[in-house]
Amino acid sequence: MTPPQAPQSAPAVVEVVLHPGPLRTDWCHACKADTRITADLVLLTPGGLSTVGALSWCEVCEDPDCPLPQRRINGG
Ligand SMILES: [Zn+2]
Repeated sequence: MTPPQAPQSAPAVVEVVLHPGPLRTDWCHACKADTRITADLVLLTPGGLSTVGALSWCEVCEDPDCPLPQRRINGG
């Protein structure tokens, strides 16, 4: 599939697309397991790719469908 050619009379449109980068797992200190997921946010612009940030969450203790009960495992 090829993108349609922009008509000559149209103003230049800067196309910016935000992509999640490859996912990688990290250590979650709350779960004490490799359940943390980090994804770089990659911005695709006509000038090239740039990393604009990273998202990180834990698939276990930040799962909105199945939240863990409140607890204090570190003793405070
Ligand atoms: Zn966790």
